[in-house]
Amino acid sequence: MSRSVLVTGGNRGIGLAIAKAFAAQGDKVAITYRSGEVPEGLFGVKCDVTSAEDVERAFGEVEAQHGPVEVLVANAGITRDTLLLRMSDEDFEAVLDTNLVGSFRVAKRASKGMLRLKRGRIVLISSVVGLSGSAGQANYAASKAGLVGFARSVAREIGSRGITCNVVAPGFVETDMTAVLTDDRKAEILKQVPLNRYASTEEIAGVVRFLASDDAAYITGAVIPVDGGLGMGH
Ligand code: NDP
Repeated sequence: MSRSVLVTGGNRGIGLAIAKAFAAQGDKVAITYRSGEVPEGLFGVKCDVTSAEDVERAFGEVEAQHGPVEVLVANAGITRDTLLLRMSDEDFEAVLDTNLVGSFRVAKRASKGMLRLKRGRIVLISSVVGLSGSAGQANYAASKAGLVGFARSVAREIGSRGITCNVVAPGFVETDMTAVLTDDRKAEILKQVPLNRYASTEEIAGVVRFLASDDAAYITGAVIPVDGGLGMGH
């Protein structure tokens, strides 16, 4: 059955791979984007997840085109890396507002339609560093750890209505976000990855698609690492 799927930040990187994975199995896929082009074959809605008005308008557009969102992937995210003593309130708040509060805004809005349908899948994209911590990323790690408590609370609240809420915690994935890291930093990370390579965006997308499938109907409140073993033990 073709479902209405919405992926935030689906115009590039991991979000785009997730959108393509759902589209490939015949789902009706919408993505949010802030600037640039909408990738071919996808329905794009302009939306900055830090704006409640944008989120409301975007959901209205998706619902008019594809019907109520049955699968939500909250993927939009940013980094503003710096050491704690140099981190401004703005650096901290911008990352929390996008990664954590932005996910809250879209999950809350999506859950309305899912509660009416009595089914739905919410997948939040966290990170291995949300569990392990990462020097220079106190804001980012806090936002990604926050998603775990958020997802587990939502899972408890709306599980009885046939809606699951899970977290995917990728490790190091080669995208624009990680392209800014120095070669030394990349090599240092790689040394700690048992599988000794970075993830492809498709490897993250496959797990998200599984969590939204019938095979994952009995999985909720879970944190699924897709990190080549980097976060083992956390
Ligand atoms: P990219 O930087 O390549 O893409 C980020 C996406 O988020 C873009 O589509 C961007 O839109 C969107 N976005 C950012 N801020 C907002 C906002 N305020 N409103 C709406 N959309 C926004 O990142 P990745 O693909 O690498 O990361 C995707 C997710 O995966 C993020 O949540 C990230 O934290 C997480 N992740 C990434 C890892 C990695 O190694 N790459 C590892 C672990 C987790 P626009 O194009 O308009 O800027």
